[in-house]
Amino acid sequence: MGWKNELYLIRNAQIYGPSPMGKGDVLVGGGRILKVGKGLPAQEAYDVEVIDGTGKVLMPGLIDPHVHIVGGGGEGGAKSRTPEIMLTDIISGGVTTVVGTLGTDGCTRTMTNLLAKAKGLEEEGITTYVYTGSYRVPVRTLTGSIQDDIILLDRVIGTGEIAISDHRSSQPTREEFARIVADTRVGGILSAKAGLVNIHMGDGAEKLEFLRYVLTHTQIPPENMLPTHINRSTALMKDGIDYARTMGGYIDLTTSSDPDFLEPDEVKASTGLKMALDAGVPIEKITFSSDGQGSLPIFNAKGEFVGLGVGKVASMYREFKDAVLKDGVALEDALMPVTANPARLLKLARKGRIAEGADADLVLAQEGTLELRTVMAKGVLMIRDNEILVKGTFE
Ligand code: ZN
Repeated sequence: MGWKNELYLIRNAQIYGPSPMGKGDVLVGGGRILKVGKGLPAQEAYDVEVIDGTGKVLMPGLIDPHVHIVGGGGEGGAKSRTPEIMLTDIISGGVTTVVGTLGTDGCTRTMTNLLAKAKGLEEEGITTYVYTGSYRVPVRTLTGSIQDDIILLDRVIGTGEIAISDHRSSQPTREEFARIVADTRVGGILSAKAGLVNIHMGDGAEKLEFLRYVLTHTQIPPENMLPTHINRSTALMKDGIDYARTMGGYIDLTTSSDPDFLEPDEVKASTGLKMALDAGVPIEKITFSSDGQGSLPIFNAKGEFVGLGVGKVASMYREFKDAVLKDGVALEDALMPVTANPARLLKLARKGRIAEGADADLVLAQEGTLELRTVMAKGVLMIRDNEILVKGTFE
């Protein structure tokens, strides 16, 4: 893509940054938000393109901290390996920042592939980071150590998804797990990055015990651990609520399950958010991620298993919307787990908020229905009035 004049004035939108900022205008240029205000003039000399935000809500672009960007799965043999993600799978859900991760398969899925894919998505227009490793312990890194990967490789901001409490995990001991979190934390400190461990939670009865162990037996704070799939069962959801309330822990809810065919005990992400808020969990402690491009069972209308499909990143937006429209969560609260919260935890200072100097990652949605209309990533219009303007290289 060559250089283009990309100056936009989004006018007269209800701005949620994610806190409500009232009706106003946002001036975008050079990939950043230049100005936020009311009645900003469109200085025609500079060829500013006006986007009418009347009747629309303007929000930060969504951040998805757990996506299998090179594909995942493989648990039904090689033919069940899911394909790589395409750009439009991401932007069509208003997502403008993703963190890529390997999963169960740390053999045929590699760090070199993950980093190359992240670079490709970045070139296509969104912001992309990765975690080093996969489910496996010891962690298979690119350079030989977790710290070296985080310190030396720009795009690596943490470790994961490390599997615990699951029959597919490497069954690490609590001490081995604590060492991974410690190495990741120090790598983060030395590179001014998040140093976050993304933790795959399985069905095991021990639930969040390893994370409690780290918080009670070391000086590591909760900010270095993000356990995901917390809503996979009611029991784990309850333990997550307790972990967040009593230990200040962070919890991540997975959005990509088909809401019509949840496992008998599974909690829909939007419902889980409401449950956690009602139980007194501070909103700052909750994030959503899609687990996008992982393999997902598909059911027919009778609920019979008919094959494997692929988890969708766009499910993040659906669960945000459902939290507002079905579960009665305030818009500014429902936005936190998909914007400001992951930005803070991932230490992405220019992401997840609407403010002068922040990256121009923006979503315009219809007021009332929250139907997604327009998506901008780093100041470039990706989708305008439902029309996809920028596609992936092979789409
Ligand atoms: Zn997982």
